[in-house]
Amino acid sequence: MRMEGGCLCGKTRYVIDGEPLWAGDCYCRDCQKESGGGHLTGLAVPAEAISLSGPVRTYTAPGGSGTMIDRSFCGECGSTLMSHPHVMGDARIVRAGTLDDPSTIEVGMAVFCTRAQHWDQPVGTRTQFDEMPPLG
Ligand SMILES: [Zn+2]
Ligand SMILES: [Zn+2]
Repeated sequence: MRMEGGCLCGKTRYVIDGEPLWAGDCYCRDCQKESGGGHLTGLAVPAEAISLSGPVRTYTAPGGSGTMIDRSFCGECGSTLMSHPHVMGDARIVRAGTLDDPSTIEVGMAVFCTRAQHWDQPVGTRTQFDEMPPLG
């Protein structure tokens, strides 16, 4: 599967050439802060399937588990394109809304549902987890 995406201003672009592992909605507070909304939708992709180009910058901070998360964003417009939670090894979590055609993905689960705001509740058709489930 080949997908492309990019930031708001268009200077930072990526190409995914490979199969996504899973897609999910995350309701944790960090994702609320990053997105400015009630949740963020992420698509997990093997790192070797992604090529990222443009004026990329990285923000690194610990996640809820205490292990580091690198977030890659456009240095020009600030859109976050993907993250690398070190706890997930080789997977990168691409921000689904940055895909050129986000309609092509299937979102199967929602995580950190206990943190969801009353005005943005998890969609009923997702498999819902209170926290982060162990992911292979
Ligand atoms: Zn940009
Ligand atoms: Zn999150």
